Amino acid sequence: MSVKVTKEEALEYHRSPNPGKVAIATTTELNSQRDLSMAYSPGVAHPCEEIRREPELAYEYTAKRNLVAVISNGTAVLGLGDIGALASKPVMEGKAVLFKKFAAVDSFDIEIDAKDIDKFCEAVKAIAPTFGGINLEDIKSPECFEIERRLIEELNIPVMHDDQHGTAIITSAGLINASEMMGKKIEDMKVVVVGAGASATACSTMYKELGVKNLIMCDSKGVIHKGRKDLNKYKKDFMIDEALTMEEAFTDADMVLGLSRPGTFTKEHIALMSEEPIIFALANPTPEIFPEDVREVKPKAIVGTGRSDFPNQVNNVLGFPFIFRGALDVQTRKINMTMKMAAARAIADLAKQPLTPELKESFGDLSYGREYIIPIPFDKRLMVEVSSAVANAAVETGVARIKDFDLEAYRQKLAT
Ligand code: NAP
Ligand code: MG
Repeated sequence: MSVKVTKEEALEYHRSPNPGKVAIATTTELNSQRDLSMAYSPGVAHPCEEIRREPELAYEYTAKRNLVAVISNGTAVLGLGDIGALASKPVMEGKAVLFKKFAAVDSFDIEIDAKDIDKFCEAVKAIAPTFGGINLEDIKSPECFEIERRLIEELNIPVMHDDQHGTAIITSAGLINASEMMGKKIEDMKVVVVGAGASATACSTMYKELGVKNLIMCDSKGVIHKGRKDLNKYKKDFMIDEALTMEEAFTDADMVLGLSRPGTFTKEHIALMSEEPIIFALANPTPEIFPEDVREVKPKAIVGTGRSDFPNQVNNVLGFPFIFRGALDVQTRKINMTMKMAAARAIADLAKQPLTPELKESFGDLSYGREYIIPIPFDKRLMVEVSSAVANAAVETGVARIKDFDLEAYRQKLAT
């Protein structure tokens, strides 16, 4: 489904009916003197005292339990680069809209004018008590790795940099289904990752967790190997022994994941790959290579891009709203690898279910196959499947605060 939007249309959308895309809604009555005394002084002192006595009661008496902060410093915004905190606000407001519309999660967008890791982390830590979770967004690599690591370690609410892990979860779902469809064992696959930034690093970590043993990562200087002297510590985790060329890396490869920029690999590279390769070309808005070019050299390839006008769109909205929904509902302290894996598997499994009549009406008669390996973002079943899988994994791995969790009851609640 290709949708063209002009600049003027987009600006008008953001200008009216009110500037921006979000506002606050209240959830209690405030019509009388009595309501006023409840909502504010003196009544409000009681929950304050309760929370001071027992901090976990903030989940009972405040909006913390359904509130996520969408936080950026504007250093890696979409394909626009380092545009600064203020200019990133439309994107962060947009993310807040998606949280609300897809998964009924409330969020504040918070733009922090700080590029320095210490300063940024201090600011986030200082405001963390307000929230049940933190979605870090559009923060440049490699700083994003240290920022996320510190905040996960130091805060007792879930923190996830979506550009990293959202992408890793959705592409893992794609990898699970595509490998199965091609009859390939993940452990036996040769995977080339083109890009070594925020998203590529998280994807590669998750693929290893999924079982990939032969993974070759490339950055703008070529294959990442032990002979290179210019690698940061994050790239070093993916060094291979041999100084391969890109061509050697692509030879007989079963999959390529592009998270770089347009044109970083070509038809000639694809031609070197195995007969039925998996190609995820995710540079946005222009992919590394277009699906029609892949098909010219490998007609049986499974191809995914970041775009809605081609099949198999890798869109992070398949993940983050539902991951945080599940995490908030069991009041987790972390989002761990088990929870991310559970999300990936739930997304993969949903693609195997027939489309609902409602989806068929909008998207045609899609069914599980090479042109449909991951679900459509508007599939309402995502919330039940992904949120319940994440919540259950949180409970099973001991990071949830809530004690009595009934999976079936929770799934039913999500479905209504
Ligand atoms: P990033 O942190 O800036 O990383 C970009 C990486 O691309 C860097 O490691 C860079 O190498 C590498 N690169 C640049 N030119 C290259 C070349 N010629 N050959 C090989 N590698 C090259 O960016 P990111 O946030 O990971 O995002 C990367 C791209 O993926 C963007 O276009 C983004 O929009 C897209 N993306 C799409 C999705 C999605 O579809 N769902 C999700 C996430 C990201 P150096 O390290 O040497 O500079
Ligand atoms: Mg982003």
